[in-house]
Amino acid sequence: MLAFTRATLRTPIVRSVRSAISALAAAAALGALFGPATARAADTAITVVAAENFYGDVVKQIGGANVNVTSILSNPDQDPHLFEASPKTARALQHARVVVYNGADYDPWMTKLLGATAGQSNEGNPRAIIVAADLVGKKPGDNPHLWYDPQTMPAVARAVGAALDAADPAHKSVYDANLATFLGSLKPIDAKVAALRAQYKGQPVTATEPVFGYMSDAIGLDMRNLRFQLATMNDTEASASDIAAFERDLRERRVRVLIYNSQATEALTRRMLGLAKQAKVPTVSVTETQPAGVNFQQWMLAQLDSLSRALATK
Ligand SMILES: [Zn+2]
Repeated sequence: MLAFTRATLRTPIVRSVRSAISALAAAAALGALFGPATARAADTAITVVAAENFYGDVVKQIGGANVNVTSILSNPDQDPHLFEASPKTARALQHARVVVYNGADYDPWMTKLLGATAGQSNEGNPRAIIVAADLVGKKPGDNPHLWYDPQTMPAVARAVGAALDAADPAHKSVYDANLATFLGSLKPIDAKVAALRAQYKGQPVTATEPVFGYMSDAIGLDMRNLRFQLATMNDTEASASDIAAFERDLRERRVRVLIYNSQATEALTRRMLGLAKQAKVPTVSVTETQPAGVNFQQWMLAQLDSLSRALATK
């Protein structure tokens, strides 16, 4: 059993969290000076902060015009595992009535920042904190890429619906209807997973990083080279034997597909991508963060379609 434990926390992260917390304290003091007049903007939307933009998207789909969502990780060109919280992150959190984050050590900076702000927003309103990992029974050491597990988003969406109902009971019927629409819109993803499973269960595949792991498990694929993937995720060095095993899988075409995390690239993963192309092993590019211009459902379906095409390649 491989543990998806994070590499030792580097001091810059600790330092930046600490400075973020002191910035938060300073901002709180400013808030006390200027009072709620500056905080009370024209809109009455519920302020929500999501650590990751796919959770933010789900909040938007359920809250509609009644929520004002800030997503902290939203750049599909950056490696979220290397993210460091900044004073800007801390400031965004101050006013949040609802906070959503992944947990399972994917975003440990959130726990630290929230610890400094306690269970209420800067205005003294109660704050709902939704942790995806808690909803699906995952903990540090488990694969943290929970949003690729078809079980996760329905659970997060239900929790978001309940939090919005509680924060804004006047719009409960809107949130409940939007939740039902959202849950229904996940059905094509489940159908696609089932279809792939029926056709490709047990087929060997590999990946440069574990981001797609839960989806691969749901399809029943035989995912190889997990230790290599973990080294990529943790930004540590893969062992010579793990690298050799990965290269052999590609050169000898022992895998049907290479799943390539285009957000966790380094010389070694790029080399594997090159080897796959030489050996004519089909590749599927996946990202950790939701790309701009698509919603969560479209993003997942596009990646499943791409996997389906790759698996169909002879
Ligand atoms: Zn990752």
